[in-house]
Amino acid sequence: MVSSYDENNIFAKILRSEIDCKKINENDYALAFLDINQQAPVHILIIPKNPYINFYDFNKNASSAEILGFWELLNSLIDDQGIKDNGFRIISNSGKDGNQDVPHFHLHLLGGKNLGQMINLRS
Ligand code: 5GP
Repeated sequence: MVSSYDENNIFAKILRSEIDCKKINENDYALAFLDINQQAPVHILIIPKNPYINFYDFNKNASSAEILGFWELLNSLIDDQGIKDNGFRIISNSGKDGNQDVPHFHLHLLGGKNLGQMINLRS
């Protein structure tokens, strides 16, 4: 795992307003914006405002308030996007084997259609 946070990753630049994003919502601890490469009718990225590399780093090192605020923003998106009843998928790619491209912790919230199998475990 990469052990130090890269201040120049693209999401750090979005948080510093050096790069634009299509913001959906935010609170004190987290920001939600559209993924630039939409894979479903709903495809939103949720990121903490403080610098964490991945899911493990966030859960290990974020404060309780940050973690709670992050999950509260996520649930408000599920309500606002109207995907609570039909369902959705949340993905967190982490590290090399998880194919994580941007080394700032993020969740992908996907929905708005049937997303098919997550992964073909038989192949
Ligand atoms: P990962 O593979 O790290 O889980 O996903 C990174 C995601 O960030 C990809 O789905 C990619 O489309 C998205 N992304 C990369 N650069 C940008 C950008 O500049 N703006 C936005 N909104 N999304 C980006």
